[in-house]
Amino acid sequence: MLVLPPDGHVHTEWSWDAIAGSMEQSCARAVELGLPSIAFTDHADFTRWVVAPEIAARMRPVRVGRVAPDGRFSPPPLDAAAYLACVQRCRDRFPGLRILAGTELGEPHWHAGEVKELLGSGTFDRVLGSVHSLAVDGPWLVDHLFGRLGPDDLMRAYLREVVRLADSPAPFAVLAHIDYPVRHWPAATGGFDATAYEDEYRSALGALARSGRALEVNTVVPLPAVIVRWWYEAGGEAVTFGSDAHRPEAVARAFAEAAAMAEAAGFRPGRHPHDFWRRGQARVGFSAVARD
Ligand SMILES: [Zn+2]
Ligand SMILES: [Zn+2]
Repeated sequence: MLVLPPDGHVHTEWSWDAIAGSMEQSCARAVELGLPSIAFTDHADFTRWVVAPEIAARMRPVRVGRVAPDGRFSPPPLDAAAYLACVQRCRDRFPGLRILAGTELGEPHWHAGEVKELLGSGTFDRVLGSVHSLAVDGPWLVDHLFGRLGPDDLMRAYLREVVRLADSPAPFAVLAHIDYPVRHWPAATGGFDATAYEDEYRSALGALARSGRALEVNTVVPLPAVIVRWWYEAGGEAVTFGSDAHRPEAVARAFAEAAAMAEAAGFRPGRHPHDFWRRGQARVGFSAVARD
């Protein structure tokens, strides 16, 4: 039977934006799928986003309530003590599953003090670093910037911010979703073509490789295979897999395809099933473009 890679990016009810999340049900799903381990990476977002009035008008009431008079939205904080206690309860309940307690830090290079305080408050086994927002006369959530910047400028600005994050000493081990803007890519453009941003991707991947951190293959949208190939060529040492599930049914979504793609690009499972995948030998004649 095919053993899927560990899921290194899962949200639960402890994430402010995961209203359908459940740590316990996510563990049950991981056991059902035969995953060797699961990492919970609930959100710690410290950036207060600018919310334009037309966007606020479409927000759920619970979120509109967090828009301050200055027009900024404050994501609710991670309750680290309660969250880590829940992880411990799940470890007791699912002893055959290796459960990592982690967090996903939004723009950790902008918030050194808050990040240090959070990570000092408990044991976090897996820390993801993410870019969710860009500074455009104030910090904006990437999803809200397509109309202002257009997809081309947005993607380039996103990857420049990824370089700044990768070059920073922020304490994270894995860069999450390097293709994050693709989730909201306008259909009218005819689809996302990673090769149009090859230089910018190679810069971001080079910075990440120099930092010694790992690249995540996020499966919310399939990460283009050519990006994983560029990661290999940049000298990237390791990849992880992340469903970015915000509900239990999405744990390990599309992992068989993602694992096959990473293997073709030259990455192999580690010694233990729960390890990062490490660089090995790339397949001769591998065509990254053909696999997109
Ligand atoms: Zn994220
Ligand atoms: Zn996430």
